Amino acid sequence: MISAHAGDFVWRAGGAIALAAHRGDRAKVVCLSYGERGESAKAWRAGHTLDEIKTIRREEAEHAAAALGAEIEFLDAGDYPLVETPELVDRLVRVYRDSEPDVVLTHPLADPYNGDHPAAARMALQARVLAQAAGYDAPGEPLGAPPVFFFEPHQPEQCDFKPDVLLDITPVFEAKRKAMECLPAQRHMWDYYTDLAVRRGVQLKRNAGPNLGLPHDTRAEAFMRLYPQVTDTLA
Ligand SMILES: [Zn+2]
Repeated sequence: MISAHAGDFVWRAGGAIALAAHRGDRAKVVCLSYGERGESAKAWRAGHTLDEIKTIRREEAEHAAAALGAEIEFLDAGDYPLVETPELVDRLVRVYRDSEPDVVLTHPLADPYNGDHPAAARMALQARVLAQAAGYDAPGEPLGAPPVFFFEPHQPEQCDFKPDVLLDITPVFEAKRKAMECLPAQRHMWDYYTDLAVRRGVQLKRNAGPNLGLPHDTRAEAFMRLYPQVTDTLA
């Protein structure tokens, strides 16, 4: 999973990450920045320096990743703005080649509230394509074609986000809540993303049919696929 800022992976895909980790799969989070300028208002108001804020956000994100069972890597590329560079894309190619992901999660390509998010998505997608090229000069084997899922942005309607995948995260929701609580700088988001999981859970049940015996308190996360689903059975 590739995110622009240190907290993004928790709100938007913490459940997906925890599900993978609890299955025994490797879950890796790459944070392009710490969100030190744009998503740390509380720390700025407390009078911390930029370096102090980066350290605070890094430690918070490490704790959140641990709560989800994920590895985490920080590229410290700076935020507000997160600048797209060939060097940063190359670093992501090397992450792909090294980790050989089965699935890629990132931001949607539109976000009129936050240019760093689409910038992260563009670099994540470009690096994925480059990592597939046999002639690209980076260690490891060419990447296959891991499906790309966009996770839910904070303002879905303005970001052209229409869910086409609803993931049942009920079994790991407590882990997601614990991870959210590792991010006190964004405390105002805890209940918002708990409520969102409840609403997406209601929609999941509605789309799953009435007789599956899903529990009343189903929680879910929403995603959009970028590429077609590949299958030999329509189900
Ligand atoms: Zn962000």
